[in-house]
Amino acid sequence: MLGLMQDWPLLVHKLIDHAALNHGSREIVTRSVEGPIVRATYGQIAARARRVAAALDRFGVRPGERVATLAWNTAQHLESWYGIAGLGAVYHTLNPRLFPEQIAWIANHAEDKVLFFDLSFAGIVEQIAPQVPSIKLFVALTDRAHLPEAKIPDLVAYEDFIAAVDDGFTWRTFDENTACGLCYTSGTTGHPKGVLYSHRSNVLHAFIAGQADALGARGADAILPVVPMFHANAWALAFLAPMIGAKLVMPGPKLDGPSIYELLESEAVTMTAAVPTVWLALLQYLETTGKTLSHLKRVVIGGSAAPRAMIETFETKYGVEVAHAWGMTEMSPIGTVGTLKAGMEKLPYQRQLDYKVKQGRPPFGVEMKIVDDEDRELPRDGKAFGRLKVRGPSVAKGYFRGEGAEAFDADGWFDTGDVATLDPEGFMTITDRAKDVIKSGGEWISSIEIENLAVGHPAVAEAAVIGVAHPKWDERPLLVVVLKPGKSASRDEILEYLTGKIAKWWLPDDVAFVEDIPHTATGKIQKITLRKMFTDYRLPTIA
Ligand code: ADP
Repeated sequence: MLGLMQDWPLLVHKLIDHAALNHGSREIVTRSVEGPIVRATYGQIAARARRVAAALDRFGVRPGERVATLAWNTAQHLESWYGIAGLGAVYHTLNPRLFPEQIAWIANHAEDKVLFFDLSFAGIVEQIAPQVPSIKLFVALTDRAHLPEAKIPDLVAYEDFIAAVDDGFTWRTFDENTACGLCYTSGTTGHPKGVLYSHRSNVLHAFIAGQADALGARGADAILPVVPMFHANAWALAFLAPMIGAKLVMPGPKLDGPSIYELLESEAVTMTAAVPTVWLALLQYLETTGKTLSHLKRVVIGGSAAPRAMIETFETKYGVEVAHAWGMTEMSPIGTVGTLKAGMEKLPYQRQLDYKVKQGRPPFGVEMKIVDDEDRELPRDGKAFGRLKVRGPSVAKGYFRGEGAEAFDADGWFDTGDVATLDPEGFMTITDRAKDVIKSGGEWISSIEIENLAVGHPAVAEAAVIGVAHPKWDERPLLVVVLKPGKSASRDEILEYLTGKIAKWWLPDDVAFVEDIPHTATGKIQKITLRKMFTDYRLPTIA
């Protein structure tokens, strides 16, 4: 017997309608690409989103076709998403930090029909336009006065494009499983792979991520997503904020410490989210200027492991609670968030930190297990580590155009490519990405754990650990370090600092000092490049 409840399809554009009706005057503040701070409301954004849909419809974009965006976090980018989705087309976020050839490859793979882009990327667009024949229209996210000089064919200013229609467009209705968004993972091995979100998965993911013990945002919050919309849906915030009526503060192109600080203060931001490198810059800015954070209550750190020292500094020095989160593009992206459980707040602070540095626990809607090489489930004892597999309504069940099928098994589990432990409380700890794990004498060494400890040294700004060939042990860890400006530390001082904090055989064989550690387009340490830089490195421990 079926239940007798309404079949109300979970469609993304219902979120912006809800926000317009119930939080119509709530602000979306943007540091615009042109420079000034601009203010809009959910009411205005919803109306402009309908214009985007009408203009694309008039241009000839049909349901299911891809409309790409190459843009920062701005109100225009947000309303474009809702307009594209409400038409039944698919927003496709391109990551501007990739090389133009990679962007062109992805746009061709997706067969994008229209491209919306920010002025900052006019140069990239000029370069890729001749290489992507499927794109029939280039929409510069600006007004006519600011149209770029670049040689871009079929170019129109966004404000003209949406002014040519009215805001009376009626949203399309369709099955909630209809494709809604497309985002490629950076594909550290092989070509990038497309993750195709549905309306249903995006709405459910906003519910999942919005749980009080997950991101825990409320309508009264002013949220600053530093994490870009092109990095896995800005970690649910582009859907969650309208769902709950939170104010959004969009940082546009300026993601450096001083610019973020200025917005945190001037817009009374209470919650923010980004990868550790962003917070490294902000904390360094606070340290050198002696400034404090007046409004910020909660910071979500994910994308790479949040070092213990970073969590501790935010919490004890600046009074900002840290939620350490883990996820991936394939998971929409939130997988776990490290909020403490009942009773844990009574633990001594260093014990609380032991939990906070873990990657967190899954909210309802995310299932996880760890398995060995034969796919046998391993115990949740906080010690056994194996490949992490996940399942849920906002987890991918395949990649766009059927690629990478080996990551999905017959029971619907997706292999994350991460190696992790699960503890009896449900907290998960990533020990490595499967391909970055260091294999020494048949045992595994976790590069992440050593990196986290190394950045606790007062002179170390950033640290990366890679495996370097060793005739006896197969691989041994090499610690690569960037020192803080004006600080110094020797190899022996750093190794001394690590001694006693990790198993003896995990101690790196050497420390290499570099000016800069290379990062991927989503802010992760680029281990492949780093390993190439050190392929011929001869460890002092080789006799
Ligand atoms: P891409 O693979 O394109 O860089 P993703 O954001 O999808 O982008 O990357 C997901 C991966 O990032 C995860 O599989 C994991 O290895 C890593 N990651 C994400 N959050 C954390 C975290 N809190 N700690 C450690 N690793 C993380």
